[in-house]
Amino acid sequence: MICPKRTSELLEQFLEPFKDKDPAWEVGVSKIAGRGVFTTRKLKRGDVIFRDMPLLIGPAARKEDTLNTCTVCFKLLPDTKFMCRQNCGLPVCNLCGKKKQHKADCDLFRSWEPCEPDVANSVIIRLLCVARALNCPKEHRDLLYCLQATLDNNHRTEVRNAAKCFRKFPTDKKLLEIMNRAVAVLRTNGFDETSDRTNDNQEFFYRALFPLFALLNHDCVPNSYYTFDEKTNNMIVKASVDIPAGTEITTTYTKLFTGNIARHLFLKMKKTFTCKCERCSDPTEKGTFISAIYCRDTNCTGLAVPEITGMPHPNFNCLECKQKSTHAQVSKAQDLAAGAINAKTNSKSLKTLIQYLKEKCPSFIPDNNYVVIEAKLQVIARLAKSLEDCGEESVGTKAQFCQDILDIMDKLGLGDCVMRTYLEVEKAK
Ligand SMILES: [Zn+2]
Ligand SMILES: [Zn+2]
Ligand SMILES: [Zn+2]
Ligand SMILES: [Zn+2]
Repeated sequence: MICPKRTSELLEQFLEPFKDKDPAWEVGVSKIAGRGVFTTRKLKRGDVIFRDMPLLIGPAARKEDTLNTCTVCFKLLPDTKFMCRQNCGLPVCNLCGKKKQHKADCDLFRSWEPCEPDVANSVIIRLLCVARALNCPKEHRDLLYCLQATLDNNHRTEVRNAAKCFRKFPTDKKLLEIMNRAVAVLRTNGFDETSDRTNDNQEFFYRALFPLFALLNHDCVPNSYYTFDEKTNNMIVKASVDIPAGTEITTTYTKLFTGNIARHLFLKMKKTFTCKCERCSDPTEKGTFISAIYCRDTNCTGLAVPEITGMPHPNFNCLECKQKSTHAQVSKAQDLAAGAINAKTNSKSLKTLIQYLKEKCPSFIPDNNYVVIEAKLQVIARLAKSLEDCGEESVGTKAQFCQDILDIMDKLGLGDCVMRTYLEVEKAK
């Protein structure tokens, strides 16, 4: 582990433009894992804990239909003639074409001679975020090297593939090493556009690394949440709840409503750790029963919950009659319910789905099970877009579903977050 003090120094230097004379955060040794970020004073719900800015940022270039995004201001450009006329292989708008940032990108990529500079190539455009690590000041690169990176067998693939798109790609080991390192840090700690919304119902369209945020450890009920400033792409991290001084600031790496077992598997596979937070240590997930299913005994009305937490394949026990269900039996029941609900979700009619959720579901899956929560979120999103043809009651349904999920959030102890704001707004509409 790199010394928390050194990390702090580099971060303070990096975040200097914010002129935060009395930061509410400091880097320390975490009980959860490695380094962590701690509050230096008592914070109230909603207080800004810190602002962060991207150490590296570039277009995600994951979708063919957004390749015409300016690589400096990220505005979507007209479909034709959006490539730089200097043959650097990057899309840029007329205004940004004259800016310092593009001059640096342009010189670098032109010196590598893109094979087809007038064609928007996602591999080249995606590499920009990584290549910008070559031009950043030394202190920024030191900070990059200070962050956790999973240096597995795959982290060199991206640069290796990108090399094929240029005639004179660098062969200098040091340069390649910096880029490979940037890829690894981005993969471990960075943001990347996903077709899905991120964990807290948040949209983010770029590939970026926020260095202070990267140090936050995970909790399944995080005490902070973040939003982005649209103009600058800076990140603002706020307190979800009141936080005492000296407390570790946490964020969530998983979706807020995923059940115990799915969360455990995700964290183990993708983030290689076992979460021991309060929610994970409680088979009822703080009385929300997000992972619970009905007892196997049809005469019993009890709920079955995992026998022990923090295991990938636990058996379930009924809380009433104590009947045990094996993990295989539980998975089957859960999959059947998910399959049935998904079939309705994918069918065109929203009215059918709503009716099904209200009338049929309660007979085979408990109301708070995450499969039901996910389906309700989908209904809310669809109703938020247009009230489709499901009659006057749809307004009431949307408010009801929002309230159902807000109740679960309260029970979990989830304070302010983007999801809460969204649900409150939709409920009131
Ligand atoms: Zn631009
Ligand atoms: Zn250019
Ligand atoms: Zn947890
Ligand atoms: Zn039972």
